[in-house]
Amino acid sequence: MVTKILDGNEIAKKKMEDLRARVEKLPSKPVFDLVQVGNDESSNIYARAKIKRSRSVGIEAKLFKYESITQKELLQKLGEFSEDRDVNAIMIENPLPPGFDYYEIARTIPYYKDVDALSPVNQGSLNINREFMVPATPRAVVDILDYYGYSYKNVSSVTIINHSPVVGRPLSMMLLNRNYTVTVCHVFTADVRRYTRNSKVIVVAVGKPGFLDRSFVNPDSVVIDVGINYVNDTVRGDVKTDEINGYVEAFTPVPGGVGPVTATNILENVVRTAEFQMGNFRPQTA
Ligand code: NAP
Repeated sequence: MVTKILDGNEIAKKKMEDLRARVEKLPSKPVFDLVQVGNDESSNIYARAKIKRSRSVGIEAKLFKYESITQKELLQKLGEFSEDRDVNAIMIENPLPPGFDYYEIARTIPYYKDVDALSPVNQGSLNINREFMVPATPRAVVDILDYYGYSYKNVSSVTIINHSPVVGRPLSMMLLNRNYTVTVCHVFTADVRRYTRNSKVIVVAVGKPGFLDRSFVNPDSVVIDVGINYVNDTVRGDVKTDEINGYVEAFTPVPGGVGPVTATNILENVVRTAEFQMGNFRPQTA
């Protein structure tokens, strides 16, 4: 069987063009404050890449890096950004150093500046099918399914292996909002294969390289690999691609699948905050 490779770079390229056009329609450039705490090398790389990508679509992105700060002082800084009418969008680079409570911090960011979309108003809106800002990674999974013509009409069910607040929980809600039938598995699920083998779409995000092998899938499966794992300086997903390539219907590669679409969706959230604040916002429909 010829397995289709679901190309995230192709989707990201189209989205970037769309974002440039949307930014040009705004009365002024969106202002995006990216906040980094500590000096973790991979965070430095991610933050720099985000700033560069933002600028390439016309976003005025600024990095605020605090190598030594307490949570209380950070909350004070975020309060200033939140109140500053010239700042449209705020994001905290993750992971934060030990001792910081990301969710306590995220809840102080106003929902209309919340690029991560993990503050309570945005999470709650998602749960009642009134999506406003949604987290970038689950949105990337939905974008990939949409782009390649999958919907509740041709997908009998989706199994997600992950129940974190960043991936599995919001994704399950986004899929329910789009009428998919969804199963969520996690570390306490007794027999994950029982669910994945009976699902058309499998989304895996366990953070373990090569976790999902051929025993989890069938020839009809569409596998979305969210995992990012660094093995000997190379990026690998959670899927044993050499075992499923040629056997399943389709899968996303790593790199080049969910990652680039996620990166673009972060910028899309920045643009959406600016559209909302500048009055051009059209609500996204599920
Ligand atoms: P996380 O909080 O560690 O979540 C891992 C999830 O996998 C948890 O729900 C965990 O369940 C579950 N799990 C672990 N081992 C399992 C097993 N043997 N069987 C069934 N479930 C198992 O991590 P995360 O932040 O959600 O990220 C997950 C992965 O996605 C990481 O590799 C991360 O780098 C990647 N990621 C990628 C992107 C992207 O843009 N592509 C964005 C975000 C994250 P328990 O909680 O019960 O242990």
